[in-house]
Amino acid sequence: MSKINLTCIECPIGCNIEVEMVDGKPVSITGNSCPRGKLYAENEVVCPKRVVTSTVRATNGVLVPVKTDKPIKKSEMFEVMKKINQTTCKLPVKIGDILVENISDDANLVATGNA
Ligand code: SF4
Repeated sequence: MSKINLTCIECPIGCNIEVEMVDGKPVSITGNSCPRGKLYAENEVVCPKRVVTSTVRATNGVLVPVKTDKPIKKSEMFEVMKKINQTTCKLPVKIGDILVENISDDANLVATGNA
């Protein structure tokens, strides 16, 4: 059995969570104050995911802020950043516009600002 200590990032409280692992699987989760923390810990020890934020250059050189609309696997972040860096867009862009469909894990790349 091994133990993994995490800080929950689901809300600003930041509970310290301890996960006991057996054969690569979580068997006990303690320290979370709510069910969101338990779910976060289960996902974090098996397949950690994050929302990616970055910018995409428009054809006139303006940088448009973007993010994935869902968390993606941390193991795929490098590939996603590569795709973002190769992406350009045409203005105007509105908040929520999809700039790249299905960039990874069924997540789209969306604008987070107007430009
Ligand atoms: S376990 Fe719940 S209360 Fe604690 S940081 Fe996570 S979301 Fe917030």
